[in-house]
Amino acid sequence: MGEPVRVSEGATRIDGRKIAAEVRAEVALGVRALRDKGVHASLVVVLVGEDPASRVYVRNKDKAATEAGFLVRTVRLSAETTQAELEDVVRGLNTDPEVHGVLVQLPLPKGLDAGRIVDLLDPRKDVDGLTPANVAALVMGREGLVPCTPAGCIELLDRHGVELEGCRFVIVGRSMLVGKPLAQLALARHATVTICHSRTRDLPARCREADVLVAAVGRAKLVQGDWIRPGAVVLDVGINRGEDGKLVGDVDFEAAAKVASAITPVPGGVGPMTIAMLLENTLLAASRSAGSGR
Ligand code: NDP
Repeated sequence: MGEPVRVSEGATRIDGRKIAAEVRAEVALGVRALRDKGVHASLVVVLVGEDPASRVYVRNKDKAATEAGFLVRTVRLSAETTQAELEDVVRGLNTDPEVHGVLVQLPLPKGLDAGRIVDLLDPRKDVDGLTPANVAALVMGREGLVPCTPAGCIELLDRHGVELEGCRFVIVGRSMLVGKPLAQLALARHATVTICHSRTRDLPARCREADVLVAAVGRAKLVQGDWIRPGAVVLDVGINRGEDGKLVGDVDFEAAAKVASAITPVPGGVGPMTIAMLLENTLLAASRSAGSGR
């Protein structure tokens, strides 16, 4: 288990809303600076169908991007849209020089192939960081665009002053959206990374090894207080509906907060960072397209 870690009196709450507001304010300054150079950074969100959760996400992204000064357009397509029609829309956005960031809200309605849409998207405009070229760039340590939620996790840790070099960084969840890209980001910061999943043997023991523990599973309160090493930093990515209808994370917050040194709440932790990093990615895409880098 290595050297003993200090036992905390109770965890500091990592305030994702506050940190996200800081990032968004910085992005807004960047958008203004770009406008001063004659470039209006723009984001197009493509929403197909009527999925209620997707509509809420898209509305929130539109609102946040507009507030930060981006030119925002939402392309709304009916659930009957064909694969060929959606591909035509994406091709059009790829070649439109006025469009810097493109986000196709997932999941797509049944019958549409999200993989082919992601493959088609211009990686330079892929502000979700999901295209094969951006996944490869992340693994190879090259310039690209990084998925928003894992980027938000690292930003929270950085702004909270958590040193990642040499630390034991354990992630529960291996999705392409969160677990895998986060592992790459932590590795790039010289953390020693363990990725756990549904077939991991003795998950509590793997979690107890963590200096930084990230839960990205989608199972309410899966991670118990006694799975946490005293003094560990805990990030809870999970968004679940509890029995009472309220949002809960993948971590038993009350129990974990007694053991951890710092922890993100749900809601108000990682969630707000996802949109903030989407804005950051859009600014990055616009700056690169304008040749001004960042
Ligand atoms: P996925 O369903 O794609 O992946 C879940 C992962 O958890 C899989 O790797 C799965 O393992 C693993 N898993 C499932 N059950 C267990 C278990 N009992 N023990 C250990 N591992 C398990 O989910 P996502 O990565 O997309 O999302 C994870 C959570 O994060 C969800 O609650 C989602 O709503 C939330 N989320 C929040 C965001 C935010 O902005 N805060 C953004 C994105 C997601 P296996 O691979 O073996 O099946």
